[in-house]
Amino acid sequence: MECIFCKIVNQEMEAIKIYENDKAISFLDIAPLSNGHSLVIPKYHASNLFDLPRDYWMAMHTALIATSKAIEKVLGFTNFNFMNNHGKYAGQVVFHYHMHIIPREKNDKLTTTHNRNKITLSKETVAQIQKTALLF
Ligand code: AMP
Ligand code: ZN
Repeated sequence: MECIFCKIVNQEMEAIKIYENDKAISFLDIAPLSNGHSLVIPKYHASNLFDLPRDYWMAMHTALIATSKAIEKVLGFTNFNFMNNHGKYAGQVVFHYHMHIIPREKNDKLTTTHNRNKITLSKETVAQIQKTALLF
């Protein structure tokens, strides 16, 4: 298995772990965008959220809250971006599902705000999306 995050789960690769439970683990990002930038991953190889069993997502929720609250308490950050890049055009580089915990502070130089557009979807298209969402 060539997946680097599976290697971290299997302890074949080092990581600075912050939190672990039976189905999820968090560790410091090797190239942090800010102090304390961490990743939460499931102990299950799913390339993205669509392939992840719900019980692993629940365990990731616990890991994400525990990790973020610890960062808040120890490092003093109260603002975060919780981020997942889904697909290469969305910036995904490692294809083992993960959530970024990116601590934010006033006047940091990180940008997650972009120019916004108006909604251009027709009513029919929105209705189609609403109907299709019920299929999953
Ligand atoms: P993404 O672009 O959402 O796929 O993010 C992948 C993230 O994994 C990047 O922020 C990398 O810095 C991080 N990363 C890659 N390899 C490692 C590693 N061995 N240990 C910790 N973080 C890593
Ligand atoms: Zn993997």
